[in-house]
Amino acid sequence: MAYDDSNIFARILRGEIPCDKVFEDDHVLAFRDINPQAPVHVLVIPKGPYRSWTEFSATASDGEIAALVRAVGTVAADLGVVEQGYRVLSNIGADGGQEVPHLHLHLFGGRRLGRMIAAD
Ligand code: 5GP
Repeated sequence: MAYDDSNIFARILRGEIPCDKVFEDDHVLAFRDINPQAPVHVLVIPKGPYRSWTEFSATASDGEIAALVRAVGTVAADLGVVEQGYRVLSNIGADGGQEVPHLHLHLFGGRRLGRMIAAD
């Protein structure tokens, strides 16, 4: 299945839709989730057209992979959640509950986050 250029994060990356940006470098964009599940809820995405962790880990360059990993750490520090702790999560595919077919890491923080996985 090909990357869908019309997905919402592709449109944000092209500047067609605004976002509340918190970080950007050559390979990564991070912005606040439109429907936050915690006081800090940021989406950290690669700029390249990767649908999922599966594709990204197999085909992205070492530079892109390093940039995404480092960006998460930078954003967590910038938003002040390092001391109290935070959670990084990526939903992948149908069972993972992925809604937007462009790889994204959720970064949650700012409150106690509770159980990792819902009972159902
Ligand atoms: P998923 O379920 O695919 O892991 O997460 C998709 C996330 O994207 C959801 O948390 C949803 O609130 C967020 N989202 C969907 N559309 C937009 C948008 O247009 N702007 C922003 N900032 N977040 C969005």
